Amino acid sequence: MYEYPSLFIDGDWRTPSTPLRIAVRSAATEELLGHVAAGDEADIDHAVAAARRAFDDPAGWASWTPKERADALERFAGELAARGEEIVRRVSSQNGMPVRVGKHTEGAVPATLVRYYAGLMANAAAEERRRSLVAGGTLVRRDPIGVVGAIVPWNFPQTLTFFKLAPALAAGCTVVLKPSSETVLDAMAVAEAAVAAGLPPGVLNIVPGSGRGAGAHLVAHPDVDKIAFTGSTAAGRSIAETCGRLLRPVTLELGGKSAAIILDDADLDAVLKQAFATSLLNQGQSCYITTRILAPRARYDEVVDAFTALASALRIGDPLDPTTAIGPLATQAQRDSVEAYLAKAVAEGGRITTGGRRPAGFDRGWYLEPTIVTDVRNDHTIAREEIFGPVLAMIPHDGDDDAVRMANDTDYGLGGTVWTEDLDRGTAIARRVRTGTIGVNGYTMDPGAPFGGVKASGLGRELGPEGLTAYQQVKSIYVP
Ligand code: NAD
Repeated sequence: MYEYPSLFIDGDWRTPSTPLRIAVRSAATEELLGHVAAGDEADIDHAVAAARRAFDDPAGWASWTPKERADALERFAGELAARGEEIVRRVSSQNGMPVRVGKHTEGAVPATLVRYYAGLMANAAAEERRRSLVAGGTLVRRDPIGVVGAIVPWNFPQTLTFFKLAPALAAGCTVVLKPSSETVLDAMAVAEAAVAAGLPPGVLNIVPGSGRGAGAHLVAHPDVDKIAFTGSTAAGRSIAETCGRLLRPVTLELGGKSAAIILDDADLDAVLKQAFATSLLNQGQSCYITTRILAPRARYDEVVDAFTALASALRIGDPLDPTTAIGPLATQAQRDSVEAYLAKAVAEGGRITTGGRRPAGFDRGWYLEPTIVTDVRNDHTIAREEIFGPVLAMIPHDGDDDAVRMANDTDYGLGGTVWTEDLDRGTAIARRVRTGTIGVNGYTMDPGAPFGGVKASGLGRELGPEGLTAYQQVKSIYVP
């Protein structure tokens, strides 16, 4: 049983301001895994004050050279890597992510990103001298933006945390992290890694909260300089409103309803080899995955049959078992919501070819069979709203232009894929799809390239050099 009665603030474990605790349960067994202190507004205030002091200290983190920060961050990366297996176990136990998925994401991405951004920063010039267009010159410098409030969801809690922490810390910012209440045990492991690495007090503070209050308080806090949020579009809109009022920079990574465009010449075997990773990963609780499968009308039945066979063969099981492909959904509420969407899909004319039920033999945990819904039109609810479950909507298209039109006919714009034997044709189609990212014959997220969405999928970019500039303020010093 994990017990964390304190909050990680100012480099130490502090007594929270209330006795409130978050009870953490296993998505697979519903058993209690442990408790973590739940921070409230006063705890957020303490954490922001600590981050502010650490940032404003003239000899503090922000004033260190990028190389000095890189050395500290290398120790942090080492401590995270050493805890990789434990972190994967904690994430999987909490949210049901199969360990075979977590091994490559939650257990690996944090250290990779910390090292990447520390290196990027250490090798970049802080100031660039430009010749003025008028007279003299200008020193263009990049300063750390300040105190960052980072708020993350439960689906890939570690990966998404480090999309923010790694560039923010490398840039010289200090951070208050508000993890999701469903995934707090892995966040506590990050605090332990920070202590072991000797990160200076206040540079990283972690305050879980049980409701929206702690997060909303952090977003509006007068001493926070930037908000970085990943989560639902609804929460993102509310956060953007607050940040708009405060003129506070904000990065928003929100929901998605991405399309896989299968062209008439596609090799279906190649599509199927990657369909699990690109469409059903983490029980479909992945923001960028393609949950609308657009298949050429002439090959529609063939594609539906192939996806039906694939989904029905996926091994459902204990997320801690390395052979498991499909674990439980993260919470009871999430499964309820997905089941409601399935009922609606059928009511609107969709037909389930496989799945749609709670699997036999799993009377505990939030399990749901991977589900293929056919006879879907792009205006059906199941094709318009983010389901965040193992559910694929199969939609016929009438050629390349029709497929692009449907791919773009959505409120969202996060990911996508194009499948074809002709790479040039596929890349040309990919250019026409209005999303922040898209893959041709696969989708492998590249930490060195910007990631993010357009339209209701968000604002700004994470990852790549662009993900670092999101934590920097540009300043021009005019010199003779
Ligand atoms: P959520 O929006 O309910 O919660 C996300 C986090 O924000 C949690 O920590 C929550 O406590 C906090 N929060 C909620 N409302 C808030 C508010 N008004 N002010 C401040 N904080 C608030 O999302 P979720 O259900 O935890 O996660 C699933 C969602 O996240 C999906 O919509 C998914 O698409 C999205 N997501 C997006 C990406 C991406 O990179 N675009 C990645 C993963 C998940």
